[in-house]
Amino acid sequence: MNSNKPKIVVLGAGYAGLMTAKRLTKMLQPEEADLVLVNKHNYHYETTWLHEVAAGTINPNQARFMISDVISPNRVRLIYDSVVKVEKEDKRVVLENGEITYDYLVIALGFKSNTFGIKGMEENALSIVDIDSSREIRDHIEYQFASYKNSEEPNTDDLTILVGGAGFTGIELLGELAERVPELCKKYDINRSKVRIVNVEAMPSILPMFDKDLVAYATKSLEDRGVEFRLGTAINECTPDSFIVGENNEEIKAGTIIWTGGVTGNPVLSESGFELTRGKVTVNGDLRAPGEEDIFILGDCAWVMDKEADRPFPPTAQAALQHAEVCASNIKSLLHDEPLEEFIFEDRGTVASLGVSDAIGNVLSGTKLKGKQAAAMKKVVDNRALYLLGGPKILLKKGKYRPF
Ligand code: FAD
Ligand code: NAD
Repeated sequence: MNSNKPKIVVLGAGYAGLMTAKRLTKMLQPEEADLVLVNKHNYHYETTWLHEVAAGTINPNQARFMISDVISPNRVRLIYDSVVKVEKEDKRVVLENGEITYDYLVIALGFKSNTFGIKGMEENALSIVDIDSSREIRDHIEYQFASYKNSEEPNTDDLTILVGGAGFTGIELLGELAERVPELCKKYDINRSKVRIVNVEAMPSILPMFDKDLVAYATKSLEDRGVEFRLGTAINECTPDSFIVGENNEEIKAGTIIWTGGVTGNPVLSESGFELTRGKVTVNGDLRAPGEEDIFILGDCAWVMDKEADRPFPPTAQAALQHAEVCASNIKSLLHDEPLEEFIFEDRGTVASLGVSDAIGNVLSGTKLKGKQAAAMKKVVDNRALYLLGGPKILLKKGKYRPF
C-alpha cells in the first residue's frame, strides 16, 4: 500500500463496519486513501438472524456470506484477525496476530452479552453473540433431545429450555423455539408435553416499548404455542442446570439455559481506555469519540443520545447502518477539509418476529401490524438489510423467501 496516502482502518465487518467500508469504496477514489477492513472471521453474518440459527430454524450458512464476495480485496485490504486493543497515542491497533497503524479509525466491533454480574450467568448460560455461539445453542438443544431419547433413566428436566429475559432477543428466540421444538419432538419421537420452554423476565410485561394490545397479542401467540412466562420474576443466580428466581429463590431446572438479558459494547473499548457509559462510548454528534479527531465509534459500541427523549437510541441494525452512512461521509469531509455532518436518526419502525409466520410491529409513523402481515414486513426488513450489504447476488442466494 502507498504509505503517502492517509490510511483508514475499519474494525468490524458487521452492519456498521461493512457498510462504512462499502460506502468509502464508493465515495473515495483509490488514490485518495488506503482502506483496511479488520474482522475476526472471513465472513459477515446477519446478527439480526442469529436467534434463528440458535433455535435451528435456519442453517448458519444462510445467515452469513464471505466478505470478499462484496468487498474487492484489490480495493480494500482485508485482515481476518481479532482486535485486542487500540493504542490511541500511537495510532495503532493491536491484533491477536499482529498490529496495524491508522490515520483514521472506525470502531464497529458490535456487542457482548451483559450479565450484570448475576452469579453464575457468565459461566453457566449460553448466549447469542455470533454464529459460533448461536450454533452452539442449536447443537446443545439437539443433544439434550438425543441423549434423553437414548438414556436408560431419562430426566424430563433435561428437555426444559430456559430463556432469561424477554426483550427483543428473548422474544424472537422464543418464537423460533416454538417452531423448532415440535420438529425435534417428531425427529426424536418424544411427546411434546414433556418439553417445556420457560421464559423468566424481571419486568411485569414483555416488550414494554409496544402498545398494550400488541404485547397481549404476542404473549398469547407464544403461550398458545407452549411458551410459559414467569413475568415480574428476577433471575438471581444461574447454576449449571437451573435459574434461581424471585423473592423466594425458587429453582427452575433445565437442560438448556440461554441468557438474553441485555447487551453492552465490545470489551475492546475498555481495553483501549475509552471513557465508557454502560460499556459504550458516548459519541459526539458527528459520531467521533470525545476528544478524538480521528476515531469514529459506530453501531452497538456507540452510545448515541436521543436529545429529545433524553435517553440513548436503542442499539439496532437500523441505527448501525445509518451511522455508517454519516461516518463515511464525515471521513470524506475530513480528507477534504470540509465541515462534518451531525448524525440524525431516522426511525423506520420496529418489528419483532414471533416465529416464521407471526410478528408484531410499529411501522410507517405509527401503523401497528400483527400476525402474517407483520411477519411479511419483518422478512422485507431482513432482506433489505441483506441487499444493502450484500447486493442482489447475495440476496438471491441467502434471502428469506420461505412461504408461510
Ligand atoms: P455487529 O453487526 O454485531 O458486527 C460486529 C462485527 O465485529 C462482527 O462481524 C464481529 O465478528 C466483529 N468483531 C467482534 N469482535 C471483534 C474483535 N475483537 N476483532 C475483530 N472483529 C470483531 N436490530 C434491528 O434493527 N432489527 C432487528 O430485527 C434486530 N434483531 C436482532 C436479533 C438478534 C438475535 C440480536 C442479537 C440483535 C438484533 N438486532 C436487531 C440488533 C442488531 O443486530 C445490532 O444492533 C447490530 O448488529 C449492531 O451492528 P454492529 O455493526 O455494531 O455490530
Ligand atoms: P434488552 O435489554 O432489550 O432486553 C433484556 C431483557 O432482560 C429486559 O426485558 C430485562 O428486563 C430482562 N432482564 C434483565 N435482567 C434480568 C434479570 N436478572 N432477571 C430477569 N429478567 C432480566 O436486550 P436484548 O433483547 O438483548 O436486545 C438488545 C438490543 O437489540 C435491543 O436494544 C434491541 O433494540 C435490539 N434488538 C432488536 C430486535 C428487533 O428490532 N427486532 C431484535 C433483537 C434485538
